[in-house]
Amino acid sequence: MDLSNLPRVSLGIFPTPIQRLENISRELGTNVYVKRDDLTGIGLGGNKVRKLEFLLAEAKNQGAEIVFTTGGAQSNHAMLTAASALKLGMKPILILKKRGVTARLGNQLLEHLMGVDVRFVDTDDYADIYAEMDRVGQASGRPYYKIPCGGSNALGSLGYVACAKEIAGQGVHFGYVVCAEGSGGTMAGLALGAKLYLPGTKVYGMMVDTDPFDVITPALMREAAALLGEDLEITPDDYILRDMCGPGYAVSSPEGAAAVSLMAQKEGLFLDPVYTGKAFAGLIAMAKEGAFRPDDNVLFLHSGGAGGLFAVDMD
Ligand SMILES: *Cc1c(COP(=O)(O)O)cnc(C)c1O
Repeated sequence: MDLSNLPRVSLGIFPTPIQRLENISRELGTNVYVKRDDLTGIGLGGNKVRKLEFLLAEAKNQGAEIVFTTGGAQSNHAMLTAASALKLGMKPILILKKRGVTARLGNQLLEHLMGVDVRFVDTDDYADIYAEMDRVGQASGRPYYKIPCGGSNALGSLGYVACAKEIAGQGVHFGYVVCAEGSGGTMAGLALGAKLYLPGTKVYGMMVDTDPFDVITPALMREAAALLGEDLEITPDDYILRDMCGPGYAVSSPEGAAAVSLMAQKEGLFLDPVYTGKAFAGLIAMAKEGAFRPDDNVLFLHSGGAGGLFAVDMD
């Protein structure tokens, strides 16, 4: 099955631009580019839109009237799922973990503006959340579709296989692509997509949470490859991981905060402290370690995060 034959709805504006960061390139002594997936064209943009084009196509094809998803209180993914489901005429219900800033700030404010049904469950276990989705879905008597945390299953990951294919057509060869890894689908998709469409490109996942990504990443890559009917051997060279989590998921780190400031001050772009700031801090650390030569081209995926920026949870 070719990528272009898989069911997909149109939600975003693609291709997203690639820009060279002139000031940061000078500062870091290599050619740093940014893939503007903060401009994917619905909500406030962000990486989840690419995944949702595949996931919500499946929901539609199954006749779903209700779409459930989950995450923390400030989940960018949950907000973008709600915006996208509404646009496609389905009712979003967000069953969120009661963790982080639950006040009407950031993504909670945006969900309020969209009139979304948001419910909190006081748990640290996603199994409780998925059980609650089934309870609410069955009680509604209407067909429903469940999207996992971050949209990170094999189908969602295909959004980033498609992104790698898109990058291949944008005219610059990149030795390195760097992204944040929070639930895994973005990194898995890019790493698989690079294997298929970007020969000679190494993909780095900057881990911003403490899940076992060394297991999650190759597993998602294999499942996504199977959906495409590709029989590929996935080896640890195909996905390079680096721990940038610092004090914890969604807790700001000094390096991450410095990276957010650098990008804002040098390029007028806003990263977020939960994902993209920590990921860009990883790219800066690699540059300082001498990982890049002056003539290398390094692509940073700006995966969004604007919604949560106004509800930063610093404790
Ligand atoms: C969800 C998210 C990520 C991480 O992507 P995963 O596919 O969950 O690993 C990165 N950046 C932002 C802004 C996000 O919302």
